[in-house]
Amino acid sequence: MQHIIEINCADSVQKAKILSEIKTVCTQCRACELHKTRTHLVFSDGAPNAEIMLIGEAPGAEEDATGVPFVGRSGRLLNEFFDAAGISRANQIYITNTIKCRPPQNRMPSNEEKIACRAYLDAQIAVVKPKIIILCGATAAQSFIDEEFKISQIRGKWLKIFDDIDSMVIFHPSYLLRNHSTEQGSPRWFMMRDLEAVKKRLQEKSGT
Ligand code: SF4
Repeated sequence: MQHIIEINCADSVQKAKILSEIKTVCTQCRACELHKTRTHLVFSDGAPNAEIMLIGEAPGAEEDATGVPFVGRSGRLLNEFFDAAGISRANQIYITNTIKCRPPQNRMPSNEEKIACRAYLDAQIAVVKPKIIILCGATAAQSFIDEEFKISQIRGKWLKIFDDIDSMVIFHPSYLLRNHSTEQGSPRWFMMRDLEAVKKRLQEKSGT
C-alpha cells in the first residue's frame, strides 16, 4: 500500500517551513468532531529531517494538555527504550500520531476520524521522508495494513508498505506499562529487540 504524496523539499529548513504551514492548516481543522473537545492540537515532536518517524495512535490527556505527543507515562517509557537502544529521540525521531486531536476519555479513534485526519499524516511523511517508519501499536498499523493481523505476529518484521521507506510495527508502550516482565519472550524483551533492529537497519542505510 502506498499512500505517500510527492513533496519535494531537501533541507531541514525547508522541511520545517512546510511542516509549520501544514500545522497551521491542521490547527484550524474542523474535519471531525474531535476539534470540539481537544485542548491543544498535537501535531508532532522532533526534527523535521529525522531519519526515523514514529506514528502512534492518538493524543492522551498529557499530550492534549501540552500539545506534544508521547509526553505522558507511555512516552516516558518509550524514551527509556529509545535510550537503551542508543536512539536519540531529540535528534533522530520525528513523532506524530494517526490523529491529531485527543478522543474523549482516550477512546479508540473511529475509522471516520482516522480517514478525516489522514491527509495530515501523509503530508508529514512526504515532507520528512524518513528512512524508517515505526508504526507504534495496532491502531497505527491498521491505518497502513489492509488485512487482519495480530500485532504479536507482525511486530518486529520489516514490512514493505512504502516504496522507499522500511517500516516496522512495534508494541505500543501503553501495553508495556501493563506488562512489567523483561524476561526473554516478554513484550518488553521484544520491544528492546525491535528497537535494536531499527538501530541496526538505520546504521546499514546510513553506511555507518
Ligand atoms: S483529529 Fe484530525 S481531522 Fe479531526 S479535527 Fe483534529 S486535526 Fe482535524
